[in-house]
Amino acid sequence: MRLSIVVPCFNEEAVIELFDARIRQTLATLPVEYELCYVDDGSRDATLDRLRALAAGREHTTRYVSFSRNFGKEAGILAGLKAATGDAVVIMDADLQHPPELIGRMLELHQAGHDQIIARRTRDGDKPLRTALSRLYYRMVNQWVDVELTDGVGDFRLLSRRAVDALLSLPEYNRFSKGLFSWIGFDTVTFDYRNAAREAGQTKWRIGALVNYGIDGLISFNNRPLRLAIYAGLGLATVAATYAVVVTVMAAIQGPDVPGYVTLLVAIVGLGGIQMLMLGLIGEYIGRIYYETKRRPHFLVKETNAAPQGSAALAP
Ligand code: UDP
Ligand code: MG
Repeated sequence: MRLSIVVPCFNEEAVIELFDARIRQTLATLPVEYELCYVDDGSRDATLDRLRALAAGREHTTRYVSFSRNFGKEAGILAGLKAATGDAVVIMDADLQHPPELIGRMLELHQAGHDQIIARRTRDGDKPLRTALSRLYYRMVNQWVDVELTDGVGDFRLLSRRAVDALLSLPEYNRFSKGLFSWIGFDTVTFDYRNAAREAGQTKWRIGALVNYGIDGLISFNNRPLRLAIYAGLGLATVAATYAVVVTVMAAIQGPDVPGYVTLLVAIVGLGGIQMLMLGLIGEYIGRIYYETKRRPHFLVKETNAAPQGSAALAP
């Protein structure tokens, strides 16, 4: 049994060596052969130098792929999955927020026949406001999207070879991996672990990025929001038609009614707002179609120590 560990790294010079030591220590105690697949996602610090140094002399267990620029974590995961040759693959962060000790448990569950073993973090130590917002978001999203998204579930998981191949067979450009993992299905189990703080370095998430991520989650997996636009339009049109009849009848009975300026303004502004929102929504979908039709690769590789046949497989 051969296990691949996929690690996307962006500006992780502060923690990458520590991670490498910890993970190798853990893997040495497990009954598997292993390979580490580091993906340097266009780091601007010394991450790539560190990876080169780590891989020197142990090319058979440590591979790295370095991107030409920052393509985002989703692209990093994809490159890692493409590079991985193992019978099973574990995806984890470089900052040790995903405890390596859990891999043993994941392996046991994998050997018991599961294809996706998800480690879900609790929200210990998160800001209460952020926790509340996340809860609300997931409750809302799960009403809407066709795949199940779970709070606290991230990318930390073990995937069987057939689950990895299934993921790699999905060609889309916009990769919202939380949704993709859920979409492929297979026998899935989840267990919880206590949330840990980052060992060193800084989080790459800014609030704007989180909001964008949230929008991706909502519209990556269905067109129900567009359906909502149709219903909202129908509803408003019905209200307007009814109101027009009422006003006409009133005018016929009482004569024309000049006041009502505020009502008019509110109606115009309100409708304008809704229209803008719906246009934006449609624009989001069209934007996605635009990117899909370009068929650009998900990432460009600048440097790798992967074997030649490996780098052919790396071509996106
Ligand atoms: N990461 C990446 N590309 C990016 C941003 C992040 O490969 O553009 C990696 C990062 O190096 C880390 C993981 O994704 O290994 C999670 O990032 P981070 O710890 O900043 O996120 P958080 O844990 O705060 O959600
Ligand atoms: Mg982190």
